[in-house]
Amino acid sequence: MTTAPAGALAYEVFVNEAPPQEGVLPNGEPKRFSPEASTLIYGREDAVLTDPPLTTDQARALGDWVAAKGRNVTDIFITHGHGDHWFAAGPLAERFGARVVASEGTIAQMHANAATRPLLWDKLYTGIPPTPVTAETVPDNRLTLEDHELVIVEMGATDSDDTTVLHVPDLDLVVAGDVIYNGVHMYLVQPAIVGGFGPWRQAIDSVEALGPRHIVCGHQNRQLDDDAARTIAETRRYLDDADELLQTESTALDFFNAKVERYPNHLGRTILWIGASVLYGAREHPDEDIRRIVLASWL
Ligand SMILES: [Zn+2]
Repeated sequence: MTTAPAGALAYEVFVNEAPPQEGVLPNGEPKRFSPEASTLIYGREDAVLTDPPLTTDQARALGDWVAAKGRNVTDIFITHGHGDHWFAAGPLAERFGARVVASEGTIAQMHANAATRPLLWDKLYTGIPPTPVTAETVPDNRLTLEDHELVIVEMGATDSDDTTVLHVPDLDLVVAGDVIYNGVHMYLVQPAIVGGFGPWRQAIDSVEALGPRHIVCGHQNRQLDDDAARTIAETRRYLDDADELLQTESTALDFFNAKVERYPNHLGRTILWIGASVLYGAREHPDEDIRRIVLASWL
């Protein structure tokens, strides 16, 4: 069991294995979802868990890890509405008797994601538990963990609408969901919907303004550290590169190959391929419903 000094908080990160998936990418490698990170923020007795994963198997693995920490999990916090950040909230909330918490905007997105589940997630992955939306808001977007305040900060449109991060001032920590990435390809679909990377860049500035020393990203390579300055700089550069490659590369496949060449060690090429397909699909078929383009790119 890990122990924290009296009155202090600590945190640890669990990165789940991606669920099995069928199909191959254009370069022949098997499709595979990105690693998903959950954070346990804990004091002497209580703990808050963030971003439960997608499937029942993943929830069991995460839950066993959490249980070994020997804390009472009071709340499970969800950064944004994408299914890979909360579809397995139910079994974990039940196992630990925890409340599920999110912002009002995120809760609306959770309902939308639950509605599209049969069209998307269930076609790709087996073993997703029932996904009723049980999340509730908290006053002023603030949670309390023992004597410490955890603040939900609205970030707007990043990799989806109505995203948030969790700021833990007493740990100099931001749990960034999908606003910041760490060694994993970014999901570039939302910029095709909102017309560019501007809102995402503003959100990165907002995270930086919180002054964290540590950032846990929703998708991160477990071998990398949590240095805030590095992850912020790399996330900005990834978007700058995407802007540049959208000018120089004429097809989704060219974009995909150029990104892989620039980021040979990044995980999550399946998400890169989906993003490239949507960005170029929206460009080539401006009159088509973007939701259909997104769906087709996933399946
Ligand atoms: Zn995600």
